[in-house]
Amino acid sequence: MKHCIYADNAATTQLDSAAFEAMKLYLLIEYANASQPYSFTRSTKKAIKEARGIIAECIGAAPEEIFFTSGGTESDNWAIKGSAFADTKKRVTITSAIEHHAVLRSCEDIERLGYPMAYLSADSAGCVQPQTLSERIDGNTRLVSIMLANNEIGSIQDIAALSAIAHAHGALFHTDAVQAVGHIPVDVNALGVDMLSASAHKFNGPKGIGFLYVRAGTNIAPYMSGGTQEHGMRAGTENIAAVVGMACALKANVESIAENTMHLAVLEDCLLTDLRENKIEFIQNGSEHHIPGNISLSFPDCDGEVLLHRLDLMGICISTGSACDSKNTQISHVLKAIGLDEKYAKGTIRISLGKNNTVEEAKSIAQALCKILRPHAL
Ligand code: PLP
Repeated sequence: MKHCIYADNAATTQLDSAAFEAMKLYLLIEYANASQPYSFTRSTKKAIKEARGIIAECIGAAPEEIFFTSGGTESDNWAIKGSAFADTKKRVTITSAIEHHAVLRSCEDIERLGYPMAYLSADSAGCVQPQTLSERIDGNTRLVSIMLANNEIGSIQDIAALSAIAHAHGALFHTDAVQAVGHIPVDVNALGVDMLSASAHKFNGPKGIGFLYVRAGTNIAPYMSGGTQEHGMRAGTENIAAVVGMACALKANVESIAENTMHLAVLEDCLLTDLRENKIEFIQNGSEHHIPGNISLSFPDCDGEVLLHRLDLMGICISTGSACDSKNTQISHVLKAIGLDEKYAKGTIRISLGKNNTVEEAKSIAQALCKILRPHAL
């Protein structure tokens, strides 16, 4: 039963029904601990191997370069901290001002331990210019971590150009691709990254599972100590059902990227056209090349929080700024970093449409916004 118009797909997505079906077997019947030696584990071992292979293929990696984690937050923490702890020289980490807090807080953690940090600015479209990185990087840089797509405004970075600069200076390159994997084509070799974070619940997989891609030969310390799972790099009994669900959902999403992108472009166009036709004043944030369906809108002299609650009362779920930080009502670090005028910044909402949304729903969202913003015009 659908109880609302769900337009917060950047926060989380609905579980793919085929992924759910595939998971059931490993929850109810094939529940063996894959680390045990007896034959009951044959099916679970095979499932993990196959899932790793499917995921690797979806991003152009080798299976042994995929490490399962509990999600995007853990993958980001591991990439930042694991690479720092493997570097006895404590060289510099460079990141950007518009990263997700999973990256920013991890950077603060290592900074407290004496690893130097540098933060790059983004332009008004939310893009980190390669020139900005070139001006800051030097031979004492250990890692550059810049997200592939921003969660608040959807901007997509030129990761291939940025990683080439990092490598030319002998530094590693990590990208937080949590908002990108399953939504735009992602190939680790075309991007030239050494590490890449992903999270299943952002691409119609289950919550609490994700992966970190680590290019073979990359110097990174293990994250969780304990058993020998994940080649001794990330201990803990595997969540086999979640791993299977993640692989199934990712494969389905990757296979339908072209179709979903076209569908979401139509929805975005419908929504924005309706707003314009109703003479609603707004700014659309982010770069033109953004994650399909991720629509960040700023309305002048408005309160995004009030808009969110008014829309909620009308049965529509959207987000202000960043959903991961919904308790924080201040202007987000991303909107500050792109220099958005306060007149608009306070009235910012993120509508993130997904493959299951319809044209009617996009139009209903626009109509609801018109009713709130120009109540006497309708
Ligand atoms: N990185 C980005 C860009 C995100 O958007 C999110 C979640 O919104 C995360 C990391 C954290 O992912 P997870 O919820 O899987 O921990």
